[in-house]
Amino acid sequence: MCELQETTSPSVGRRTLIRGASGLLIGGGLVAATATAAQAATSQNGWSAGSSSVVPLSTLSVGAATFPAGVRRGDVHIVLGYVARRFDREVEALVKGWCWGHSYRVISGSTSLSNHSSGTAIDLNAPRHPLGKSGTFSATQRSHIRSILNSCNGVVRWGGDYSGRKDEMHFEINVRPGDARLAALAKRIGGGGGGTPAPAPVAWTTVKRGASGFRVTAIQHLLRQRGYSLTVDGSFGPTTQSQVISFQRAKGLGADGIVGAKTWSALVVTVKRGSNGQAVVAAQKLLTHRGYSLTADGVFGAMTATKTQAFQQSRGLTADGVVGARTWAKLTA
Ligand SMILES: [Zn+2]
Repeated sequence: MCELQETTSPSVGRRTLIRGASGLLIGGGLVAATATAAQAATSQNGWSAGSSSVVPLSTLSVGAATFPAGVRRGDVHIVLGYVARRFDREVEALVKGWCWGHSYRVISGSTSLSNHSSGTAIDLNAPRHPLGKSGTFSATQRSHIRSILNSCNGVVRWGGDYSGRKDEMHFEINVRPGDARLAALAKRIGGGGGGTPAPAPVAWTTVKRGASGFRVTAIQHLLRQRGYSLTVDGSFGPTTQSQVISFQRAKGLGADGIVGAKTWSALVVTVKRGSNGQAVVAAQKLLTHRGYSLTADGVFGAMTATKTQAFQQSRGLTADGVVGARTWAKLTA
């Protein structure tokens, strides 16, 4: 979005200034690029840039926001997803329709491409933090942003730190492809690596009689998967409750009819490519509910695996395409 604003920024006009060793571009007159081979190039931070058919992209959803074109697949996706998630939790909630990722734009009169062109930059809540304006965040929010940046070890740069015109909506990858710091950060965020805090325990949302909606639908499919007979209607009524109690008894759990952490853990079934059945239907419906639309056909194929990975990346989970306990918990959060 910042590119669009740059085109109309009266304070910048047609000037193009390039400063700093990293070649930060401050300029006006950004125009939409056409994806021709002649323009095959790298964005300002050194990553290959181009249209969405050229740049390897993966969808990104964080909180209420979806980044329309996604961001660059792989470690970049993990890191920018991490930044967006922490921003959403610690700075302010992301707003649907206000966040942007990949966008193919060149700067007029220059062959230099915005980092959005390589899918290595994101804009967060753009209308609230317009290009060229500083002080759009409170001191507390700025301290949270600083904390996020510090966690990223210099791999991510914030537009609010530009020494010239500020771009407070904007966060970008500030290292070149192959930089070991990026891989190390992605690995640390992804839950591996030495010196990493132990992963948080799996957090489940408790569901009980009277509830309705996507979690109940999932519970009903999972009960069916485990041989319990009930109608999938998304409504936690007496039949669902009695089948939950039967399941709990069979598993030696406290038979209270409430699906809490222990019951969820016992109820979910790990599904992955090649799996089929009611648990797969449950996973597909949950993914669809989260914005990763799928046909709920009960067959875990390539598309379900791809959408699972995209969901996992968006939630900071290991993107292995396998729906295990941690992924089930996020899907039913
Ligand atoms: Zn931007």
